[in-house]
Amino acid sequence: MTASTPASNSSLKPALKPVRTRFAPSPTGYLHLGGARTALFSWAYARHFGGTFVLRIEDTDLERSTPEAVQAIIDGMQWLGLEHDEGPFYQMRRMDRYREVIGQMLQQGTAYHCYSSPEEVEAMRERMRAAGEKPRYDGTWRPEAGKTLPPVPADRKPVVRFKNPLDGDVSWDDVVKGNITISNREMDDLVIARPDGTPTYNFCVVVDDWDMQITHVIRGDDHVNNTPRQINILKALGAELPLYGHVPMILGADGEKLSKRHGAVSVMDYPAQGYLPEAMLNYLARLGWSHGNEEIFSVEQFCAWFDLDHLSKSPAQFNPEKLASINNHYIKLADNERLAALVKPLMEQDGADFSNAPALPKVIGLLKERAHTVNEIGVAAMLFYRKPAPDAALLAQHFTDAVKPALADFAARCASVEWNKESLAPMIKEVLAAHALKMPQIAMPLRLMLTGQLQTPAIDAVLELLGREAVMARLQPHLV
Ligand code: GLU
Repeated sequence: MTASTPASNSSLKPALKPVRTRFAPSPTGYLHLGGARTALFSWAYARHFGGTFVLRIEDTDLERSTPEAVQAIIDGMQWLGLEHDEGPFYQMRRMDRYREVIGQMLQQGTAYHCYSSPEEVEAMRERMRAAGEKPRYDGTWRPEAGKTLPPVPADRKPVVRFKNPLDGDVSWDDVVKGNITISNREMDDLVIARPDGTPTYNFCVVVDDWDMQITHVIRGDDHVNNTPRQINILKALGAELPLYGHVPMILGADGEKLSKRHGAVSVMDYPAQGYLPEAMLNYLARLGWSHGNEEIFSVEQFCAWFDLDHLSKSPAQFNPEKLASINNHYIKLADNERLAALVKPLMEQDGADFSNAPALPKVIGLLKERAHTVNEIGVAAMLFYRKPAPDAALLAQHFTDAVKPALADFAARCASVEWNKESLAPMIKEVLAAHALKMPQIAMPLRLMLTGQLQTPAIDAVLELLGREAVMARLQPHLV
């Protein structure tokens, strides 16, 4: 035995840290499509690696945060099936922890008290702007070796500022955008606690990502400017840095930032309009991420495929037609009983009468093929569940003297024909032949009498579903 084990033997490599991702919404409104997509990517990444997905509610903006918005976010995630493994953690309940860390930083000298008033800070910024420099805090209260600080003004509560490094760069390899490097000279000594001691936004995020041991921060690229500040604070705390990935925003079809103008932007508007969660997930997954040319895939497949290497660097465009066509795909796959449970309440609101009427799942089976939303099916299905009220002029136009005997013949044969499509279709043909008519001449008045409308699925299918009794009852008023 002479062979020695090479030091790089992969089986000897330390186990990778378990993946921990988070979704950290500010509860100031509904869960919008961009937020849902960020949540989806973070969730799928954790699922891919058997890791942990944390939900954190960033509710420190007391004026804009509401419990309704928290609920809307939780509802939206639940509808999409984005279950969190830990949380929800609320930042407002972690104030003691933030204060504790601020105390430690003051003690260690990585943060300091600053007594400059807001007016003084504004004046120094103004001076810098006038001198053509980037406006920033001038370091009046920043302690340095050998520096004498000004006397502490009476009756003024200080803010706490982070002692940002003066030299060097902050640099990270963004998993979406590639390497980003910012010079420390560009950055201010960030206020991390206000005069009343409350911590500021970026600071809370840092402490949370640290405490929650987040390994991958996937978020919207509107936060990219916060990242160098957060990295510097994490470094000052001696924390291990997570990987960052900043996902470009979602644009409307016109290239503008997605807004109400482009239709629904709240995730929960979609179930209300008859979209299925699996369709929404599939659509959102493709918005800014790709796996070859794959367009349609299950959520399990998505989790198996999802990686951070195929996130797009450029903004994705929201395309409602594409979403509708994916919805149609999943409607066709969906169980008719499930769709029935979704449309029934809507149809009841519309006055549907389900007594003596065909079973709703069967009707859905007939109607779902071309439906882009579940609600569309509900509207179409109403023809089976309300008394037909055909427009008199339309009926007169189609129910001509030439057609009347044929309709009477048809009604008579209805009494005895075997009630299924296979027998009804030839029976109609016989009636047409006997009266020398063409299909539309009998199908159109029949449609009007039976359903009140001219557009219906195939007439034999409508007849079969309505049933003999309902057909006879609906024809009766026109035969006398
Ligand atoms: N609370 C932030 C937002 O809703 C997200 C912060 C983060 O992901 O770091 O936009």
